Amino acid sequence: MEKIAVIGAGVSGLSIAQCLKNKYRVKLFEKDTRPGGLIKCDVVDGNLYHQVGGHVFNSKYPAVLEWFWKFFDRENEFTKTPRNASIALDNGLMAGYPIENHVYMLGEKTIQAFIQDLLNLSKRENSTPDNFEEFLRIRFGNTLYDLYFQPYNEKIWRRNLKNVPLSWLEGKLPMPTIEEMIFNNFNHSKEENMVHSSFYYPKQNGSQFIADRLVENLDIAYNHAIETIQRHKNKWMLKGETFDKIIFCGNIKDFPTIFKDSLNISSFVEPIKALEFHGTTSVLCEIENNSYSWIYLPNRAYSSHRIICTGNFAVSNNSGTQHTGTIEFTDQMTKDDIIMNLAKMPFSPKYLTHKYTKYTYPIQEKTTKNLISDLKKEVEKEQVFLLGRFAEWEYYNMDAAMLAAMNLAERI
Ligand SMILES: Cc1cc2nc3c(=O)[nH]c(=O)nc-3n(C[C@H](O)[C@H](O)[C@H](O)COP(=O)(O)OP(=O)(O)OC[C@H]3O[C@@H](n4cnc5c(N)ncnc54)[C@H](O)[C@@H]3O)c2cc1C
Repeated sequence: MEKIAVIGAGVSGLSIAQCLKNKYRVKLFEKDTRPGGLIKCDVVDGNLYHQVGGHVFNSKYPAVLEWFWKFFDRENEFTKTPRNASIALDNGLMAGYPIENHVYMLGEKTIQAFIQDLLNLSKRENSTPDNFEEFLRIRFGNTLYDLYFQPYNEKIWRRNLKNVPLSWLEGKLPMPTIEEMIFNNFNHSKEENMVHSSFYYPKQNGSQFIADRLVENLDIAYNHAIETIQRHKNKWMLKGETFDKIIFCGNIKDFPTIFKDSLNISSFVEPIKALEFHGTTSVLCEIENNSYSWIYLPNRAYSSHRIICTGNFAVSNNSGTQHTGTIEFTDQMTKDDIIMNLAKMPFSPKYLTHKYTKYTYPIQEKTTKNLISDLKKEVEKEQVFLLGRFAEWEYYNMDAAMLAAMNLAERI
């Protein structure tokens, strides 16, 4: 059997290793002491804490669902919950999500202004937006842009939305037509087309449960940060072992250094350095009991953009009757800043712990897809493959990372 080394035991590395383990001798190398990458969870004072986000699972890809449920007992190990997202507006109103379907909740003046926007938009000639701000204005009108889309997205992107590239949007957001928005408001429709309009969540241990199950029956070396990989005749050598193929599921920013002496990729070094990204500060809090799954926060008075009501995802996520939630801030925040912000936020969050993760959101520019695809072509000639959110610089959800792993496994 040929030998494959997989670098990184996040969802991508675990998935590809599971897909290939019967055809190859697969060994995983993970720099941390446990599997999971972004989906890792801890327990703090008896409460489940997602180190990043509040990972829930679902997929629009039947092949992914079929593959995933081979590892789990859906009925006994997971709950299925309908999404109950809400938007906390400045005036204290909790508006339905997505906002364009719930304008009927926003009061007479806003409804009138929105109707006028839709009439204006319907008379507009079709034009292609240049940037995110233009896209949002053309799609949803100025009223909703000012009320929600601008303040909310500026908190996420921490920049003027004119400077946010559009390339990342493809396939990521629903694109309702004017007719659909009118219909959904008249009809009080619920959003059913989003991947996470209902979601599965483990009854115990949050998303760590998923990683812990996917790592079973795999050969894995923890505490092994791969810093260099070298050529050894026609094979690859790392940590004293030789391999026929390498699947890299780490961060593309580290790739040129790791393969410095063994791959001719000098023309890629500068463009890779230039790739932009965001980090996340994820804060575990006690919050007032509520029935939401996510609460979106456009209010400019504080910098957090979302409360993920992780305490509502599973009974076992809370130590007592008080619910917990995970509050997200883009990029790094100090503990003092966090506490100052929490004091201004709805649902009276009380700080328990926080963690900053440097790489959480890859930012795609117009040229990113071509850059990665050219690099893949170059290194695949040498039996080196890129897979995962930061190896491919793709805005993957877990299921998309699994699909990418399944596709790569077919191709190898
Ligand atoms: C805030 C947030 C919320 C999210 N919510 C959801 C959600 O609700 N549902 C959903 O489906 N998806 C969600 N996602 C997306 C999901 O987290 C990712 O798709 C998925 O976890 C990516 O897995 P990965 O293996 O590609 O990358 P990672 O999770 O980053 O894994 C990479 C692994 O490689 C290891 N590694 C890196 N370099 C080396 C090296 N040199 N040597 C050894 N090991 C190395 C790392 O330690 C890590 O374990 C969310 C993402 C974020 C940021």
